[in-house]
Amino acid sequence: MPEFLRRKSGGAQPVPESAPATTLPDETTAQEYQLKLYYAGKSSAGVRFKAGPRTMDEIPGMLAGIAKSEVEMVEPLPIEFSQATPSIVHPSEAMQWLNAHHANSPVTRHALVVLESIDAIDLAFDTFACGLLDGETDTSGYPEYSAIVGGIASHWDESNGDLVLRAVVGWGGRGVRGDTDRTGARILGGMLTNIMANQYSMGLTALERPVPAAGRGGVVCAHCGFASAHERAFYCPKCGMRLLRG
Ligand SMILES: [Zn+2]
Repeated sequence: MPEFLRRKSGGAQPVPESAPATTLPDETTAQEYQLKLYYAGKSSAGVRFKAGPRTMDEIPGMLAGIAKSEVEMVEPLPIEFSQATPSIVHPSEAMQWLNAHHANSPVTRHALVVLESIDAIDLAFDTFACGLLDGETDTSGYPEYSAIVGGIASHWDESNGDLVLRAVVGWGGRGVRGDTDRTGARILGGMLTNIMANQYSMGLTALERPVPAAGRGGVVCAHCGFASAHERAFYCPKCGMRLLRG
């Protein structure tokens, strides 16, 4: 049997007396590595709209003249995606997230990573009209860290079925620029102005975000079939119709 296949017999091997000293030097030299990621964003106050199918169709128009890319509508996620999280070290949550969003544009995917990471939107109940708002994309179409993404998030009010719209912006990645915060605030104000100028707007309202259910599911919408993860919802997060309870 060759020497390398022979199993070592138990017990410590004797150290040859000529072995070099292995004591640590007083100061250890180390190669340093680090990556600082920076995500930030802003959300406006909510603006109340009378419930009705027309309101959703109005939203892309509110981004006219502001969005620098095509506006993409991201709908609330049904219950089978309720664990979706853009975190690659949690494979089950990451797979749900990719399955839900792999078909979205690079701008939208970047926006969702930023805005979900900082908890500025929640696709358990938000519908999100999203685009590039400022800055550049790289050659693959992904926004640079100084670019600003975002748009208009909307959810159905749990108590009366009104639609509540808010402007949302976000940015970030491998760095931060000094003027991005101010530019983001200016764009947020522009979107809020457009929302309030809409003919169906009923004015500013206190923002009460719905609370998603923990664990067990909510109700299936009889109108569009959407299965909400949101057990307290009285109105379908997707189509806005009243949910019927058994
Ligand atoms: Zn529905």
